[in-house]
Amino acid sequence: MATSPPLSVIVIGAGMVGVSAALQLQRSGHQVTLIDREGPAGGTSFGNAGILASSSVIPVTTPGIVRKAPGMVFNPLQPLFLRWRYLPTLLPWLVPYLRHANSHDVQRIAEALSHIVGQSLQDHQDLAAGTLAERWIKPCEYTYMFKDRAYFDADQAMWDIRRRLGFRWVEYAGEELAKQDPFLSDSHHFAVALQDHGMILSPGDYIADLAKAFTKKGGILHKAEVETILHENGQTTGVRAGGETLTADRVIVAMGAWSGQLAKQLGVRVPLEAERGYHVELWHPNKMPKNPLMVAAGKFVVTPMKDRIRLAGVVEFGGLKAGPSEAPFKLLMHNVRAYMPDLTWKDETRWMGHRPAPTDSIPIISDVPGVKGVYMGFGHHHVGLTGGPKTGKLLAMLATDTKPNMNMAAYDIRRFTK
Ligand SMILES: Cc1cc2nc3c(=O)[nH]c(=O)nc-3n(C[C@H](O)[C@H](O)[C@H](O)COP(=O)(O)OP(=O)(O)OC[C@H]3O[C@@H](n4cnc5c(N)ncnc54)[C@H](O)[C@@H]3O)c2cc1C
Repeated sequence: MATSPPLSVIVIGAGMVGVSAALQLQRSGHQVTLIDREGPAGGTSFGNAGILASSSVIPVTTPGIVRKAPGMVFNPLQPLFLRWRYLPTLLPWLVPYLRHANSHDVQRIAEALSHIVGQSLQDHQDLAAGTLAERWIKPCEYTYMFKDRAYFDADQAMWDIRRRLGFRWVEYAGEELAKQDPFLSDSHHFAVALQDHGMILSPGDYIADLAKAFTKKGGILHKAEVETILHENGQTTGVRAGGETLTADRVIVAMGAWSGQLAKQLGVRVPLEAERGYHVELWHPNKMPKNPLMVAAGKFVVTPMKDRIRLAGVVEFGGLKAGPSEAPFKLLMHNVRAYMPDLTWKDETRWMGHRPAPTDSIPIISDVPGVKGVYMGFGHHHVGLTGGPKTGKLLAMLATDTKPNMNMAAYDIRRFTK
């Protein structure tokens, strides 16, 4: 329970991060209002691949990406797309982003991410305990599929980082792989099954159930667009949302890829881009993989969700405003035909979302210099579903003046203000 007196806290954004922060603050006895312009899981947390990807600590900016990327954007069968008209807007973010594509930074980023995502299954089980949301969590292996062992060996340096950080896996080849899971074993002859992972059987339903648990215990869910964070004499007083003033002792910004604007209003320019990603869902298929599979060559995930297979992946740069492009959907469907030729299904659905991407691939979990009472939790790139509960817990601690028992320097927003 809260040390006296309970605080009133506004959390902006009801994605995985915001809902986690709201629930954990409520459980510590505080009065919490969760505001989202769409409602729970209205943003990126709805459509991700659903993996509790604890070992996904390697950023996109690996050594070699600068050499490979130009060829990839010109090839519609590669999972990197660019809306060319967006390039001038992208460049001031892209240049510092690509500067991190070196071994030292990859190791540093992986280490920082591992503290946020490393215990994800347990973190989600704790968050959902005693709520309806528990039913959507499935402990499982997360399997990387390779054409053959040479493809895995070619990426050894990155697997060494995972090994050093304590992630463990079982390797399968040939017939053993087919016995383990025949789903993609015609085209793939080597696999690495990461242990102690998990998945969410329907991310939108999961977050909606967590939000229901929050309102059932007296939390307020408010549907409105937040325009401004209010502050007087260096201290927040609340927010302006949908033309109304809502007062609070503390404000938490968990608006994912949309967080940059409010940070800027408070005087902090975070170099944040939207890494657009896509999914297609194939409903009521004739077969499913046992566990989620990452097709390493195509960099997309095949997740066996409730009643459907979700294929998710692709990185597209094109900003927050433009609608979905056709080419990434075509690529995902091409992959279905190429890798799963005998798969059939009844219906298809499609989605595009925005991964929140700071240049250094490390989320911001921080107070804000110059405005007391405001905290920021965003920028989780490809692992925001995975890292939501831990981030929420850390935000709840920061906002209630409880010192986290880990070094928070890597996540501090001040790294962008120096
Ligand atoms: C194709 C794809 C696959 C992915 N797969 C995985 C995966 O398998 N595992 C994993 O861990 N991660 C995955 N991710 C990444 C993950 O989905 C994101 O990192 C995560 O959802 C970010 O969560 P969030 O709560 O920060 O943001 P969001 O879920 O985007 O939530 C932000 C919320 O803020 C609200 N909002 C924005 N502006 C305002 C405003 N002004 N006022 C009020 N509300 C506002 C939005 O409506 C939204 O609901 C994937 C992403 C994509 C695109």
